[in-house]
Amino acid sequence: MDKILNQINHTTYKIEISGIVQGVGFRPFIYRIAAKHKLNGAVSNTTEGVIIKINTENPSSLDLFIDDINSLKPGPSIIETIRFKKIPYMDFDDFTIKKSIKTSERFQLISPDIATCGPCLEDINNKNNSRRYYYPFTNCTNCGPRFTIIKRMPYDRPQTTMAKFKLCKNCLLEYNDPPDRRFHAQPNACSVCGPKLMLVDSNGEKTGSGDPIINTAKLIKKGKIVAIKSLGGFQIACDGTSDKVVSELRRRKRRPVKPFAVMFGGTGPVKKYYEACSKEIESLASSRAPIVLLRKKKNNHILSRFVSFYNLYEGIMLPYTPIHHLLFNHIDGPLVMTSGNISEEPIAAENIESFEKLKSICDYYLIHNRDIYSRYDDSVIKIFNGREMVLRRARGYSPYPVKLKKNIGNKTILSVGAQEKNTFCFLKKNYAIISQHIGDLDNLESIDFFKSTLSNYKNLFNIENIDLIACDCHPDHASSRIASKLKSGQKTRVQHHRAHLASVIAENQINDTVCGFSWDGTGLGDDGKIWGSEIFVVDCKFKFERVGHLSEKILPGGRITIKKPYRMAITYLYYLWEKEKKGSKEKFPEFIYNILPSYKNIASSIEIDTIEKQIKTQYNSPVTTSMGRFFDAVSSLLDLTHINTFEGEAAIHMEMVSDEGTKGEYRIEINRSQNKAIIDDFGIITQILEDISNRVPAGRISAKFHNTLTKMILNISQEIRKERDINKIALSGGVFQNNLLLKKCFSSLRNDSFEVFSNFMVPVNDGGISLGQAYIAAIENYPGRKE
Ligand code: ZN
Ligand code: ZN
Ligand code: FE
Repeated sequence: MDKILNQINHTTYKIEISGIVQGVGFRPFIYRIAAKHKLNGAVSNTTEGVIIKINTENPSSLDLFIDDINSLKPGPSIIETIRFKKIPYMDFDDFTIKKSIKTSERFQLISPDIATCGPCLEDINNKNNSRRYYYPFTNCTNCGPRFTIIKRMPYDRPQTTMAKFKLCKNCLLEYNDPPDRRFHAQPNACSVCGPKLMLVDSNGEKTGSGDPIINTAKLIKKGKIVAIKSLGGFQIACDGTSDKVVSELRRRKRRPVKPFAVMFGGTGPVKKYYEACSKEIESLASSRAPIVLLRKKKNNHILSRFVSFYNLYEGIMLPYTPIHHLLFNHIDGPLVMTSGNISEEPIAAENIESFEKLKSICDYYLIHNRDIYSRYDDSVIKIFNGREMVLRRARGYSPYPVKLKKNIGNKTILSVGAQEKNTFCFLKKNYAIISQHIGDLDNLESIDFFKSTLSNYKNLFNIENIDLIACDCHPDHASSRIASKLKSGQKTRVQHHRAHLASVIAENQINDTVCGFSWDGTGLGDDGKIWGSEIFVVDCKFKFERVGHLSEKILPGGRITIKKPYRMAITYLYYLWEKEKKGSKEKFPEFIYNILPSYKNIASSIEIDTIEKQIKTQYNSPVTTSMGRFFDAVSSLLDLTHINTFEGEAAIHMEMVSDEGTKGEYRIEINRSQNKAIIDDFGIITQILEDISNRVPAGRISAKFHNTLTKMILNISQEIRKERDINKIALSGGVFQNNLLLKKCFSSLRNDSFEVFSNFMVPVNDGGISLGQAYIAAIENYPGRKE
């Protein structure tokens, strides 16, 4: 009789929640909310999200239940959609958590790894907590490894690298106890049953007795360089305050200038040594725990000057695993904490691999036996105009998708990204799932990393069939070659600078005509030339019209000149010499040495002769309009950087020495040719040479140079607005990593009522190319689906 009454009074609702709802304590959370509302039913994880079934008498209690889900959801979770509908009545006696079910081909978003939460931090520092005091793998449903340990979906322990650790009796109790913070925490572990740390020397022999973390702290304090196996790979740690240790690390890592990332124990010292605003501190201390670029205070340093040299910014992060937190219990000062790799190779992730790769760098290794399934670098961000701007997207950020305005339905697009700072991207429905930072695809290790990550994403996101593959126009790019070998999927090519702008249009959901400045170092253009200062008008249908760029010049010897800015300076001077010599017998090297006597020590007359020949014959020397090379040339002329030891070094040097108070700019001449604005960069170089001969300091010249580029962008934007009534300006490409330039452009354009857009969610550098490629492929091939 009771049963029948039940049926009359009760209705069953099915609630489907999508978003990041797996591996973030969502099911236990739903369990607690259901208990609070005294609702019977069940919750389960599926490959498409979380499904809840509840019985309730009135719709208003359903509303209250859903309100609570939205407002009280666990910190690391992100709800994309909540849908509910009535379903045929089901009988529930209580509320239960069901096992994960595998369902159709729809895909589930996967949580990035999450920094150690407050309660777990209390556990590891609580002497009375016998199982977790100093236990370095402590985690819960609100924190710990996720993406790096998942082999397959749905996210359950047997599908992770934790499968080999059998839960002890107490861990199992927590795991099965709904009110517990560790209820269904898949990586749950304790000192009895979980992974273990070990400190070994460079021969792989265990070293020291007692706690390996305390021993590691002692070694670091003694000046040793230690590799630490972290969430997504090895990090190399050493005393950041010691000139001797930091310069030794630079020598061993063969990294003369590129700044190192640094870890501080807490926000206190960060505020003391850096000009950090509240937003910066918030990002730093967030569960994503990225490296945040912070401006150094002028006269208050703690780090060795070898950490960042002339750079005004340092990349700072806070501890994000129990290993880091415990280490900082025994170390006061900041630690250099750099990726465990050799130059641009991928981060080392396995124990044996690390000995092999890092043996010339590290003295000791703090290793453990929890395997890393996916390598995952630390992410790098900065705060720009109060918003996070991601410069390297990995831990804490990927594979969280970027939502698009366009929905491609049940099609799948793969884009394979750029040659440098590679990422790839899957586009499904209206989601762009962008891989973590993979790096420069110019060595076998990186290419292997690309391939294994690609197959991992296919697995995790249930991608069986790829309809369309987008790659760069350059046929020799490693990613293009991999793409051409993939079996399924029609292939399409997307030009590099168009992809940069499309990434801005995609992430900002722009549905309007824009004028875009795509400024960077290198990208193959439609005409086989190396572009890099491209200005496009892009209409709603994604028709790109190239409306301007710098003048064309030769890049003598190709790649070698990208590495050596002084060769680019000599190239600019060649064209001036050609114009000026008019019958004079002055040889090219003499001309150079007369203008710039210091070049006698930089380039031999033989090399200058060779450059002259390369320009004349164009042998192995493409034509370029690169803005990056323009910066290179000026940086060398100003005697700042003559050789790039890392990408963008010469330009960064200019930004850093710029005297920010300097007003004024150089005259800008724009020539019209075939309906295009050709910017006369030689005219600007001539004015810079005048300033140099008048002994104007490099800092002032550099500031004027930045002002000139800003004015150039403003002038061209104004002209285009007048001609075509376009008010939206997009800025993308590696040149806009330059904070000074970006700041100046945003403010001068906004002052003139332009709407200005750039990349925030994906890197403005080539890390964002994959998003742009995928978006262009989507618009061009699946029209009519823009929502
Ligand atoms: Zn926790
Ligand atoms: Zn245990
Ligand atoms: Fe680029």
